[in-house]
Amino acid sequence: ANHDNLYLQFARNFDERPDTTFLDTVEGHCYTFAQTRTAAGQMASALRELGVAPGDRVAVQIDKSCETVILYLACLQVGAVYLPLNTAYTGEEIRYFLGDAGPHLYVCQPKALETARELGKQCGVPRIESLGTEQDGSLMEQARQCSASHEVEPRAADDLAAILYTSGTTGRSKGAMLTHANLASNCQALAETWRFSADDHLIHALPIFHTHGLFVACNIVLTVGASMTFLPKFNAEQILDLMPRSSVLMGVPTFYTRLLDSERLNRETTASMRLFVSGSAPLLSETHSEFSARTGHAILERYGMTETNMNTSNPYDGERRPGTVGMALPGSEVRVTDRETGAILPRGETGLIEVRGSNVFKGYWKMPEKTASEFREDGFFITGDLGHIDADGYLCISGRDKDLIISGGYNIYPKEVELLIDDMPGVNESAVFGVPHPDFGEGVCAVVVMQPGHQDSLDEAAVLVALSDKLARYKQPKRVFFIDSLPRNVMGKVQKKQLREEYAELFAPEPARS
Ligand code: ATP
Ligand code: MG
Repeated sequence: ANHDNLYLQFARNFDERPDTTFLDTVEGHCYTFAQTRTAAGQMASALRELGVAPGDRVAVQIDKSCETVILYLACLQVGAVYLPLNTAYTGEEIRYFLGDAGPHLYVCQPKALETARELGKQCGVPRIESLGTEQDGSLMEQARQCSASHEVEPRAADDLAAILYTSGTTGRSKGAMLTHANLASNCQALAETWRFSADDHLIHALPIFHTHGLFVACNIVLTVGASMTFLPKFNAEQILDLMPRSSVLMGVPTFYTRLLDSERLNRETTASMRLFVSGSAPLLSETHSEFSARTGHAILERYGMTETNMNTSNPYDGERRPGTVGMALPGSEVRVTDRETGAILPRGETGLIEVRGSNVFKGYWKMPEKTASEFREDGFFITGDLGHIDADGYLCISGRDKDLIISGGYNIYPKEVELLIDDMPGVNESAVFGVPHPDFGEGVCAVVVMQPGHQDSLDEAAVLVALSDKLARYKQPKRVFFIDSLPRNVMGKVQKKQLREEYAELFAPEPARS
């Protein structure tokens, strides 16, 4: 009966190699498999003592640490719903998440306990605790005084294991309800596709309040009984130091561009590594080719989202095609449909990317209408991303549906314009977006970041001239601005909503301008 609790998929590794180190950190903390199992069991007892019952939400807003993983495992073990929150969220944002999710317990950092108590009280959260390390009265100390429980709460495949809020790139964050089966099947598919074994050692520098760092990286390692080293955040030199005793790195594109800045990145330093994975935002083809020239490793790009975990991956053995995110994982299907009619499109044509499979979430927490509107009748989930499948079956993402620019009735895919600008001499990167325009509905606007030392090699007129014979007139930007860096969130996603807001008045008729 117990058999669908994700915890069991992990726990069978704990007994197999009890004395092997499962998790360590660059600060020198570490847990063996046996210690992990005992600490999670003690934490499970502490949670039960706090009145956490199966199905209760446990909101967790703490910095990345070994103890976060212990708390995650304990929540699974007692059948609670794990709800990670970004430590960067402000009081206002936390109030929304706590009010929306209604957790029984809110776990915060020791230094934030006072604020957390205030916020928790306002939102009617019954228990508020901090998660320190030892003798500080925190949840960790309470757990150490409990005896370890080995009772695993029976869970059905369809029961919730976690609620994970989306990154809020396109609007207010939504709570994605993820079941034990969603998480269990996806990390199995990934472990298989990426050939994970107990011998692997992962360099883990991603945040663990997000799907990439937690439900991809940690879950794969836990599923196969591999090991990993936690870095609090990206640090190129620390990652290079770890490579000789590691096998896999999972990162966002900015990890790779920043690794390329280090002279130490070469064939020797990466010799014992077998896999470099990139996701969460588009990887530039240039980064892909520079990285393989320097190291001999082709970065494997994949595509996922909070609601579905991982959808697609470039092949492990076959060609890893730059500019694409590969094919559907085992247990998952991908198709492209027409934005207007919903008809399934043939290969090569661009439309909405839809996915179906055991990885796809149960729905948005407390948003039944929103959930219904994002699913087709045959069970496909409309991702909100646009793209096409190429002749060989590789999925190519052209951007988000919400970022599509409609100018004078024509559709403009920002990525098409961005790629042309990025190719110009001295350009580091660019972002293209639409802002309200009195005549065309939306006008195309571009912001460009130059490479250091090349600030003077282009100006607005030069960009416009260079684009004029490469793009149809309606796709050409009406204005180009040079800025120091693109606004990005911690996962490396460009915040186009912020750009649209910043330049919203650009084409406003005179009287509206202040
Ligand atoms: P919100 O849904 O709240 O607006 P978000 O979509 O950014 O936020 P996430 O679930 O963290 O929240 O991000 C998933 C999105 O990230 C995908 O829908 C896609 O747009 C983008 N993405 C992920 N991997 C890739 C990739 N390899 N290439 C391009 N885009 C990617
Ligand atoms: Mg999204």
